[in-house]
Amino acid sequence: VELSNQIAAGEVIERPASVVKELVENSIDAQATQVLITVKQAGLKFIEVNDNGKGISADDVEVAFLPHTTSKIADDHDLFNIKTLGFRGEALASIASVSKLTVLSSTDGKSAIKAKFSGNELIKKETFARSKGTTMTVEDLFFNTPARLKYVKSLHTELNKIVDIVDRLAMGHPEISFRLIHEGKDLVWTSGNNNLQQTIAGIYGRMVASHMLEFENSDPDYEIRGFFSKPDTTRSNRNYVSIILNGRYIKNFQLTTAIIRGYGSKLMVARFPIAVIDIKMDPSLVDINVHPTKQEVRLSNEGHIGDLISEGIKNRLSGQNL
Ligand code: ADP
Ligand code: MG
Repeated sequence: VELSNQIAAGEVIERPASVVKELVENSIDAQATQVLITVKQAGLKFIEVNDNGKGISADDVEVAFLPHTTSKIADDHDLFNIKTLGFRGEALASIASVSKLTVLSSTDGKSAIKAKFSGNELIKKETFARSKGTTMTVEDLFFNTPARLKYVKSLHTELNKIVDIVDRLAMGHPEISFRLIHEGKDLVWTSGNNNLQQTIAGIYGRMVASHMLEFENSDPDYEIRGFFSKPDTTRSNRNYVSIILNGRYIKNFQLTTAIIRGYGSKLMVARFPIAVIDIKMDPSLVDINVHPTKQEVRLSNEGHIGDLISEGIKNRLSGQNL
């Protein structure tokens, strides 16, 4: 079992940022309103995700770490109508197989269960006390898979990837307050008051957020809104263009191109905007079973959605005196 978990881990858990992604997605799925992420040495030494979600019961805690156990799919039909972020049930088992993981969780805010795993093996289980929610602590990632450790890039790169993941999850969930602390320093801190512009401020800073333009261009099937920078505030790469579909950060080349197209000739060559586009649509029309990391997403009507986006941005810009 351990070997197959480590193989699965290679697929899902590539680097510290993958751990952060899976743990924070679980917090979101557990209906947390506050998620605190504490990281040391770009996550290689220490990653802790603390939430105030519904918690894991003492009975379920071991089961949650078995491969392919998920509490999130009731029947086959659900696979085509996925609203929660996790649905494969392999993340915790994978993380536990390549690290030393401690879970502390309470479902009632009184009694809590604390369980320690090392390379998938339960080494300690005891009762505790804590407020309602879950704390997952992942130490010494890849300690037992030195080959995987070799693929990890510089601490700088790995930390950037963590920030990226937290940024994206925070953008998809303005109703949740996210705070990311690395070596005692706040890197992300969003309000959680369900305001997208304030969420952007918690990510890119207040100055950037307050200078962005807002647009909306919906039709009966697609609700599209967002914030984008004026053409004089640009970046040299596309990393500041974010697309959120039904609360999930996605990668989609056509829609990214549509955002840029909305600027027409107002954007200088090789410059890219800062933009956060929020799309809501019928989840059954989204094909998300594309890649294990669930980021590259296909849409049945990409061309039309792209037109709504570029048209919305173009109209908003034409009303501006720039
Ligand atoms: P998945 O998210 O795909 O169901 P995971 O391996 O990520 O699989 O998690 C397994 C199970 O553990 C989840 O289905 C959930 O029941 C439970 N779980 C994990 N993290 C949390 C959390 N932060 N709060 C509450 N339950 C959690
Ligand atoms: Mg999960």
